[in-house]
Amino acid sequence: MRGTYTLVLVCDEGFGVVMGRLGRVWVGAGCCLYTGSALGVGAQSLEGRVERHVRRWKRRRWHVDYLTSNQHCRVTRVVWLISPRRLECAINRAVAEELNARPVLAGAGSSDCECDAHLLRVQSSVGVRGVVRGLVRVYGRFGGRVRLMRFASSSRTFGEG
Ligand SMILES: [Zn+2]
Repeated sequence: MRGTYTLVLVCDEGFGVVMGRLGRVWVGAGCCLYTGSALGVGAQSLEGRVERHVRRWKRRRWHVDYLTSNQHCRVTRVVWLISPRRLECAINRAVAEELNARPVLAGAGSSDCECDAHLLRVQSSVGVRGVVRGLVRVYGRFGGRVRLMRFASSSRTFGEG
């Protein structure tokens, strides 16, 4: 499948991390979002990309990897839309506006585009349910069928919910 997705990352504890050339950032406990597109096949497909994001052990290549590989942070939901169009920047902007989300760090996750960041932090008052509702609203505006994948906390298996 090809499409655009948003990861819902929940960090149970704050932690400091050096995010490559961007420098050191403190990621506080709470909810972060990462929006990307996967428009290829194999590892570049939607399934391949999400599988990599969920996997803890990997060579850190993208800024989001510094969160997904951290023991205090976990991908709990993925909202996605099947589309061959590169919608990541438009959806990222819409998500930031809808949820009043702010960059985790200027430039985080947006090395290849003009956005402030593709790694965003949501205010703790919103909660994961509110975040998911907001994401589904945003994705709905871009047409097609919005899908939600939920990751069980007790295992790495996933199912749609
Ligand atoms: Zn962008």
